[in-house]
Amino acid sequence: MIVVLKKNADAQQYGELRRWLIAQGVSIQENIGSFQTVLGLIGDTASIDSDLIEALEIVESVKRVQEPYKKANRKFHPDDSIIDVSGVKIGGGHFAVMAGPCSIECEDQIVEVAKQVKAAGANLLRGGAFKPRTSPYAYQGMREEGIDLLLKAREATGLPIVTEIMDAAHLDAFRDVDMLQVGARNMQNFELLKVLGHTDKPILLKRGLSSTIQEWLMSAEYIMAGGNENVVLCERGIRTFETATRNTLDLSAIPVLREKSHLPIIIDPSHATGVARYVKPMAYAAVAGGADGLMIEVHPNPAKAMSDGPQCLTPAKFEEVMQGVAKLRSALA
Ligand code: PEP
Ligand code: MN
Repeated sequence: MIVVLKKNADAQQYGELRRWLIAQGVSIQENIGSFQTVLGLIGDTASIDSDLIEALEIVESVKRVQEPYKKANRKFHPDDSIIDVSGVKIGGGHFAVMAGPCSIECEDQIVEVAKQVKAAGANLLRGGAFKPRTSPYAYQGMREEGIDLLLKAREATGLPIVTEIMDAAHLDAFRDVDMLQVGARNMQNFELLKVLGHTDKPILLKRGLSSTIQEWLMSAEYIMAGGNENVVLCERGIRTFETATRNTLDLSAIPVLREKSHLPIIIDPSHATGVARYVKPMAYAAVAGGADGLMIEVHPNPAKAMSDGPQCLTPAKFEEVMQGVAKLRSALA
């Protein structure tokens, strides 16, 4: 249930309303927006008489929220959320680009690529240390050692780092990481989501391979329900009948999410297409469609990459994409 307060609502009456609502057994999420104060009620609101609340002098309107996601719902939080990743803001007009290799392979590779993506204008460095691979015989990543190298690359460039966590038992190894990625394969690993909900780390939540937008928002809700509201959504393509691309990039997720949620939306054209030469056009399409940022895989030598080489851009190609993105953004501004 949503309770919208009138502007300049009397503080004493507001205090009374809050106490009464809490006594009904619901918790209140208060959002003081630029235009109005919205109270999101979470819990069993079925027995609460909405007419009674609506009749109060300080209340403008009361709405029941049908969707099962509450904290991720735009009705609970009318303004766009802005997520701060160690000083880099994402959402609400702040555009962020996270770039780097699929897998961290050695110190030279990650430090070099970090400098190059930074020079091209990226504001966050990505790199996989724990890799979710379809085959147990494929490269599994450098694990803890990879995180150490990522930290060195951050030290060399100042770029905050994003890397994937697959198991809550590994959380301690991620203590110095700026943003934790939950990959497509773990989007519905609810135990992992619950643990992340109790951290204060920003979370990049990728869409599951075959997940609906509602399922994806419910996964965001798992994290937010634990108290961690620093969630950024990442569309990375979904499984369809099409085989010409690795996945099918669902760009319509941008306007749909924009309407349903206040969380920022990042588009990953690398995993969505699986083909380096398709990354630029889809990155441009994502910008035109209103994304809050991009995730792009960049490798100094894609042909030699330990994972996802075919979709990795060279640093020079990445720079070209970044220049086009900047032009497109200023044309749209
Ligand atoms: C990745 O970012 O390297 C990755 C494995 O992504 P996804 O979970 O989207 O497949
Ligand atoms: Mn990858």
